[in-house]
Amino acid sequence: MKSDLKRKLSQVEDFENPRISLEQYITPPALASDLIFTAYMNQDLEGKVVDLGTGTGIFAIGAALTGANVKGVEVDEEALDLARDNAEKLNIAERIEFISKDVREFSGSFDTVLMNPPFSQHSEEGLKFWAKATEIAEKIYAVSPSTGREGIKSFIASSTHKVVELEEFKVDLPATYGFHTQESRETSVDLIITEAEQ
Ligand code: SAH
Repeated sequence: MKSDLKRKLSQVEDFENPRISLEQYITPPALASDLIFTAYMNQDLEGKVVDLGTGTGIFAIGAALTGANVKGVEVDEEALDLARDNAEKLNIAERIEFISKDVREFSGSFDTVLMNPPFSQHSEEGLKFWAKATEIAEKIYAVSPSTGREGIKSFIASSTHKVVELEEFKVDLPATYGFHTQESRETSVDLIITEAEQ
């Protein structure tokens, strides 16, 4: 199932014109399928699931491919169109509700948040996502730059959630990233799983 997921997620089209200001970049399919498969095995895709900053839709699509019904929230209309096209292409559109909204204005009550927040070196942007996620969900599966790990961990410690798993991965970030000068650069990212404290 995991290799099947990775194969399908490799078909998700990447941003055509990534908007640097929104720090758009797609989670590499191998990492996205790891995140989705882990959530699936933990039975965390069975309830209410939301993908914050869905971008190309890769997490929402991955979750839907395991049978989940999922919402995908995104502020950029162009990205949402791409996400919808990707969902159609993978024949999974009926399981996903795409919502055009800034995550800060989004509310609800969810079992699970999936997210790869804006990768800001100054992590304020990312922290808006963490603030929303810890407010609305029981569990969070997030990709986050390893360089910001301590800041994220201290934010989580001050929230109603606690870290239950943290694993480091190496990924190639494309040159679309503002601060990159090379074609692509290997970067470390963390897969962080948190849960609400009882
Ligand atoms: N989840 C996708 C995209 C990650 S990039 C993936 O993993 O591949 C982060 C996404 O968050 C971008 O698509 C960007 O447009 C979106 N975003 C940035 N700020 C946002 C905000 N305030 N509200 C909603 N989406 C936002």
